[in-house]
Parts: sequence; C-alpha cells; structure tokens
Amino acid sequence: MQPTTRLVRAGLPEPPAKIKPGSPIHPGPVFASAFAAPGEPADSPYTYARFHNPTWRELEHAIGALEGGDTRIFPSGMAATTAVFASLLRPGDVAVVPADSYHTTRALTHEFFSSFGIEIRFAPTAGNAQAKLLEGAGLLWIESPSNPGLDVCNIRLLAESAHRQGALVAVDNTTPTALGQQPLALGADLSVASDTKSLTGHSDLLLGHVAARDPELIAKIDRWRTLSGSIVGPMETWLALRSLATLPLRLEKQSQNAQVIAEFLVSRPQVQAVYYPGLPTHPAHALARSQMRFFGPVVSFQLASRKAAESFLNHSQLLVEATSFGGIVSSAERRARWGGDKVSEGFIRLSAGCEAIEDLLADLEQALHFCTAA
Ligand SMILES: *Cc1c(COP(=O)(O)O)cnc(C)c1O
Repeated sequence: MQPTTRLVRAGLPEPPAKIKPGSPIHPGPVFASAFAAPGEPADSPYTYARFHNPTWRELEHAIGALEGGDTRIFPSGMAATTAVFASLLRPGDVAVVPADSYHTTRALTHEFFSSFGIEIRFAPTAGNAQAKLLEGAGLLWIESPSNPGLDVCNIRLLAESAHRQGALVAVDNTTPTALGQQPLALGADLSVASDTKSLTGHSDLLLGHVAARDPELIAKIDRWRTLSGSIVGPMETWLALRSLATLPLRLEKQSQNAQVIAEFLVSRPQVQAVYYPGLPTHPAHALARSQMRFFGPVVSFQLASRKAAESFLNHSQLLVEATSFGGIVSSAERRARWGGDKVSEGFIRLSAGCEAIEDLLADLEQALHFCTAA
C-alpha cells in the first residue's frame, strides 16, 4: 500500500470497507484514565492511561508506517527530544549537536544535560562538520534541513561515521516530516520530530514523536514516557490522526508554493539572499534532492535591515506574523526578534501555506515595495 493510502486510512477500522453498519467511519478519541482490568493486569489490553491508550496506538501505527519504524508519541517536539537524551545518555557520555540546530535543543542540552555530566559538542550542519567531533561520542544529533538556516548535511554519510565510532544517530526530522525524508532508511537509529509543525499542519496542537527500528531503543523510549508521564491527551492525538490524512496534499502544495516563492524572492532587488534546499543555487541542492522527497514549506531570506523586515511583515496582507511553521496558513517572522539564532536583523523565516500561489506572490510583491525606503 502506498504511504498516501495508508495515511488517508489511518485510524479507520480494518478493513475500512467492512465497517460495522451504523458505526462512524472515523472513530473518535478514547477518553480514559483507567480501563476496566479485572484480575491479572496482563490479561487486559489496556489498564492505566499513562501506559497506553488505543488512540495513541492508531496514531503511532500511522506515523510508524511513514517512518518505517516503531513509534512513540510525545506531548511536544521538545518532550520527544528530551526522551532521547534522557533515556539513552548517562554521565560521562558525549553528544554531538548541530551548532545551528533549533535553538531550544541547544538550550536544553546546554542548560540541563551538560549539568547532568553529559558532554555536549557543537558543530555546524553545513559541510557535515559534525563528523569531525565524533570520537568517543555516544550520540550524534542531526537536524537537516536545519531550522532556520536550512543547511543540509549528508545523513547517510554522517550515520556511517557515527556508527564506526560506536555512536547512536538521531535525526530531528521536523522540517521535512517523515513523508519528505526518511532518516531510518538513510541509516539513522532514531527519527525525532516536532509534529506541531507540518505533520499536523493546522496550528492547533503541540505534538512530537520518536521512531526507531531497534526494539531495545523503543523499549527505553517507552519506559521513559511511562515513568516520566510525558504523555499526550487523547483529543490532541485524535486531531493529529485526522490531520495526518491530508499530509500528502498539504506538504505537496506547501512545497510547490515554497519553491515558487523562493524563486520569486531570488528575482527581487530588495532580497539579499534566499535559503531553500530546492533552489539549484543552494550549496547542498544535489544532496537535498538525493535524500528528500519534498523540500518542505520553509523558505528563509535576508532583507537589508530590521526596519526593512518589519516594514515587509507589516505590509503583508496574507502572511500571519507568527513563529512556528508548516501550517496551512502562510506565516513569517523576523527570526532575530527571539535571539538565540546566529541570524542578522533582517532575516525572515517564511512558511508557505496552502493558499493559491498567485495570491501569495501578489502579496509578497506589494509588501516588498515597502522595503526599499528602509
Ligand atoms: C519546533 C521545533 C522543535 C520543538 O518542537 P515543539 O513541538 O515546539 O516542542 C524541535 N525541532 C525543530 C527543528 C523545531 O522546528
């Protein structure tokens, strides 16, 4: 079965054509804290909802089919990231993290895990620079394309180098999603993502997941979730399951829109630089083509100054000025307003939504006219 067919049918009873007459086609979420469980707990498929929930299982099966691995969901991307570091590393271990990764990942490892005795080494994503720091490492954490710079590294090559050193490899796969790039097939041990972004795509929930093929790794991730109580509510799980059916439609449209927007921005005099792996001028374009199926919704670009960027955002009629990305509604923000990323004051991260491209281009064009005076 094709991944798109699987996604459309995620959460439906099997086989969907044989749904019991009078039953909903798409079953609702299961709300429970405790399940009826007489006698031996092992005799009941479900006992207590911090351990398991049938709605979680449906979503985990669906994401797992995309990833090509067993999957556990978490209440946010950062909860999924924390599960990997906390369950796999011990004091004295070394983790290699991208210097240009999502800023909260850097802050989490630096502020917490390094004070727990784990050595954190940072190197940039571009040029596979992390390969140089792998000696003695227990975990290589990759983010490709990186957020917000959209640099790309060679996942297969880095995974081979890390495995030669005895390190596990985890990829933060948030920007492309498991439909756009499959880290496990490229040799990673763990694929991690914030499903708050494109995977669910409606800007209405937070979610994350970890996928792996090795049952021992999944057992550790599962154990961390059960003991730490880092769990998702059934309603969010069900919303995600519902959103997943349209992931192929959304991601294809967003990626097409992002590609056209990136090419348009390159042609504008007000734009100093455009960062998008789908552009032939991107330094890792050929590599991105070889390891990604979709280049994704995020396009970053450089305007002359803070004033130019603010003026552009203020005059856009369609871009919601908001953080996050991957939603059906196009959004953008001036990234330097948060601090934490090595970007200049005029740097904008734009997320292409599912609107008609003609409308987006007309809006970008008129908003860019206001940058010239700045
Ligand atoms: C947003 C994001 C995260 C964190 O996800 P949350 O769901 O906000 O916790 C991690 N990695 C990347 C690349 C992200 O963009």
